[in-house]
Amino acid sequence: MSKKIKSTFYFFNSKSYIRIIVNIINMKKLLILLSAMLPLTSAIARTETVKSPNGQIVVTVSDDNGKPTYSIALNGVEFMQNSPLGLVTDFADLSQGLSITDVKTRSISQDYTVPTIKQPKVHYEANSAIVTFQRENKDALQVEWNISNRDVAFRYNILQPKNDFYASIVKEEATGFVVPEGSTTFLCPQMLPMTGFAGTAPSYETHYTADDATGKNGWNEGYTFPCLFRNGDKGWLLISETGVTSAYCGSRLLNVEGNSYKIGFPQEKENNGNGQVSPGVSLPFSTPWRTITLGKTLAPIVETTVAWDLVEEQYAASKEFVYGRGSWSWIMKMDPSCNYDEQKNYIDFSAAMGYQTVLIDAMWDTQIGYEKMEELVKYAASKNVGIYLWYNSNGYWNHAPQGPRGIMGRAINRKAEMKWLKDIGVRGLKIDFFGGDKQETMRLYEDILSDANDYGLNIIFHGCTLPRGWEKMYPNFVAAEAVRASENLFFGQAECDKEAFNATMHPFIRNTVGNMDFGGSALNKHWGFDGTRGNTRRTSDVFALATAVIFQSPVQHFALAPNNLEDAPEWAINFMKNVPTLWDEVKFIDGYPGKYVVMARRSGNKWYIVGINADEKPLSLTLNLADFDLGNTYSIYCDDAKLNSSLKQAKMTKKKTVKVSIPQNGGLVIM
Ligand code: CA
Repeated sequence: MSKKIKSTFYFFNSKSYIRIIVNIINMKKLLILLSAMLPLTSAIARTETVKSPNGQIVVTVSDDNGKPTYSIALNGVEFMQNSPLGLVTDFADLSQGLSITDVKTRSISQDYTVPTIKQPKVHYEANSAIVTFQRENKDALQVEWNISNRDVAFRYNILQPKNDFYASIVKEEATGFVVPEGSTTFLCPQMLPMTGFAGTAPSYETHYTADDATGKNGWNEGYTFPCLFRNGDKGWLLISETGVTSAYCGSRLLNVEGNSYKIGFPQEKENNGNGQVSPGVSLPFSTPWRTITLGKTLAPIVETTVAWDLVEEQYAASKEFVYGRGSWSWIMKMDPSCNYDEQKNYIDFSAAMGYQTVLIDAMWDTQIGYEKMEELVKYAASKNVGIYLWYNSNGYWNHAPQGPRGIMGRAINRKAEMKWLKDIGVRGLKIDFFGGDKQETMRLYEDILSDANDYGLNIIFHGCTLPRGWEKMYPNFVAAEAVRASENLFFGQAECDKEAFNATMHPFIRNTVGNMDFGGSALNKHWGFDGTRGNTRRTSDVFALATAVIFQSPVQHFALAPNNLEDAPEWAINFMKNVPTLWDEVKFIDGYPGKYVVMARRSGNKWYIVGINADEKPLSLTLNLADFDLGNTYSIYCDDAKLNSSLKQAKMTKKKTVKVSIPQNGGLVIM
């Protein structure tokens, strides 16, 4: 912690200067003069710096011209230019006319466990500073900083302006992110409200553009979190937010101009126009955290735990929730497949694979019915298979017709349904088609999670927002879609053509801040029915295996089909039978979003080194295996130039290195 006073107008405080003035004018005139000169006091800028524990990240906070600002440097290299802080409430504009009046620092060292995330046991170390910005009438805003060796996080503490004032509206945030000049972007546009399928947007299901210029604003409505920027050849930064509960709204990133971005609240027309955009808060109040993960390489971004480091469990788990692999018919056979006989097939298929669950998707309420569902859940239990059931979240907030609907949006209906679900032994729910990011939708997510915990149900969200620390905050939360997921491979050939490109984005962006329910890893050659019709899969079988490891979620309903027991290579099926869904550690090895990724995950003492390539040019790499306890021989799954996949056994060399080549749309697994 260091401190610096820029005394540009220090003469104003000089007693002798005032004495001269008193000699030449009367008291009244002096008062007028003093008040006229008052704005000058704000030109006395106070600057504070907060550093990461290793001293490499330096955040500079200032009140220059009365405006709270910050900037970030990593090893002396600029990663965030001077950027605005503050917010505007209904009682005060807390983004200007403020001076730093107090700084409180402490160091944080804590251990925590979240069983479902990329690395369940986390040790978090950071330096914390609470910087108070105040003006003479005592209105104050605190900016609370937590700076680890790879993340900068901050949130606002809004204090009570007076004793009997307990509620406020946050009208807007000034919070900005001015990325370095020349940065390029890896962003996906925020969807426009009441667009998409049956008015279910925004649901975080747009395409990323890689290495794009700054100065654009998506589809005029900014971008969904998280947002990745490349600071030229100096490194990378990922901007996101965490700790959003029903006490605030979800935010997005808006472009102001050029390389300047800011926090945006939800769009007015979300939720069919119902619910306000500006969050209402109870005072005193702490906002969600804004997070910036940065590094010279992409390792801090792939390995970060910032989404969970800063948040607290909101309630205790009602039981020990279980996770694992499963299958679902809908991804290859769509709505008509949600019938009794097909689901029985998939239960048998999951049992044959040693999988724990089957997800029964939309329209089971009419195509199977409640009575037959009880039978089906019993049948599944007899095979040691649990059932996830799909629900529509609406409600009035979109036009999605699929049932069951009209249940999850209202506590009375929801709790009666959840009692039934618990009684018949359903494992969990996949709830789809939410209405946006307004505070009232955050309340719906939270209420569903809280009720489901009471009834011992796991929850997966689809057609939904990004989970913001929810894996730790709500212990029965499993994963969310919030990505252009596998269904789009069924819907369009263009999506299949770009499958590898999209897949190389997720470990650096969407999936690194939250469990991602993608529903992929198909071994059918075509997306549809028995795998002989439908869009052509462009990616190899090893690519499918690799993404089962790259895409992280504690529950994976893979896009496998019963016919794969007969028609897929035995080594691929064996791999898919045994691939873990709970991991202990993740390591970035190499990659470039949109081109390729090579990374490793550990489950127990087993490392899985996996890679995929989207680039036209085959990816040739020499991998150093010394860091991964592979023993004397290891298995290597790879593709030839024509994407013919195979499994080989290899002997560890003395150098503990291996040369690999991954063709476009191909994959690699070493274990
Ligand atoms: Ca979807």
